[in-house]
Amino acid sequence: MDIQKTLAKHVQKLVPYQSARRIGGHGHCFLNANESPKSESYLLNSLSLNRYPDCQPEELIEKYADYVGVRKDRVLCSRGSDEAIGLIIRTFIDPDEGIVTMPPTYGMYEVAANTNNVKIAHAKRREDFTIGAQEIEEAVNNAGFKVKAVFIDSPANPLGIVFDKQELVKLLNALPDTFIVLDEAYVEFARPEDDYVDLLKDHQNLIITRTLSKAFALAGIRCGFTLADPEVVKSMLKVIDPYPVCDPVAQIAIQALSQGGLELMQKRVEECNERRRILTEALQKMSAVTEVFASLGNFVLVRFKDGPAVFNAEAQRGVILRSFEDKPRLKNCVRISVGSKEELDECLRNIEAFEKAQGK
Ligand code: PMP
Repeated sequence: MDIQKTLAKHVQKLVPYQSARRIGGHGHCFLNANESPKSESYLLNSLSLNRYPDCQPEELIEKYADYVGVRKDRVLCSRGSDEAIGLIIRTFIDPDEGIVTMPPTYGMYEVAANTNNVKIAHAKRREDFTIGAQEIEEAVNNAGFKVKAVFIDSPANPLGIVFDKQELVKLLNALPDTFIVLDEAYVEFARPEDDYVDLLKDHQNLIITRTLSKAFALAGIRCGFTLADPEVVKSMLKVIDPYPVCDPVAQIAIQALSQGGLELMQKRVEECNERRRILTEALQKMSAVTEVFASLGNFVLVRFKDGPAVFNAEAQRGVILRSFEDKPRLKNCVRISVGSKEELDECLRNIEAFEKAQGK
């Protein structure tokens, strides 16, 4: 049997998402997946692991609803926000319809679209990489297929910029039949003066995705959330797998969302943002660097004179970064996650050594 020939047609062409873990790399210092540098301790009750968990564990939904200040029926919990991205596509989009993304952006939107055999069109960012309602509307109108969802990451990965709130309101009003998916995986680091969650009340077409993987330092448990109109949540629950949130995951997430857990998260975010500031300033002074993007996430995108050379020099010394060399308009760009002070010091020392070796 030639297994390759048996694959569904759209699967034959698929390239899986190149996650940091999948790319791998031999190192001791991983600054390539925007993870928190430190894991916390949690208690685990193993008395009912013999039972299937609730599809949507009530206490967890309640805790997250309280944290963001919305009603419980506006919250859905999933296996990371990655699962939410796929669910949105599977729930709302037929094969002759599709999505709009705005590269450079998080890669999973396209992977999820391709996996589910729906179409993709791109909106064009401006020279400074910002983008507004007008560019997105143009992409939706010129897509050549019915656009059911627009995916906007804010802060954007890897750019680090936030989508303007007024532009979002304009877009929600201009495209009332299109879902605008605001991916706020990194929102806690950005602390926008305005919370965008309040827009949910007046805009049924707004879907916000969130995660515990970043500011809550829980990438390992795979726990994400969708905030949306109750009808949207109900519709996504038609498609979701029976038990998306494992019992130990719910137990840990509930502790992370307790008063103590939230205080810890806020402290973690403040410290991370301070390290991001120090890292940015240090990079700006380096001769190997041509541009440091102003980031509001737990990562910094850097354009080097020779990005691949710096990436390789770091990798040889066991520091694994993320290269964006092949992404649109990001030649020579490398993303550095804001790790611990020691990790970032090591990363900077390696760049200094690289500069010396180049005789600069
Ligand atoms: N959105 C963005 C913009 C991301 O960068 C990531 C993770 N790298 C995710 C979503 C996925 O997060 P999760 O761990 O919740 O699946």
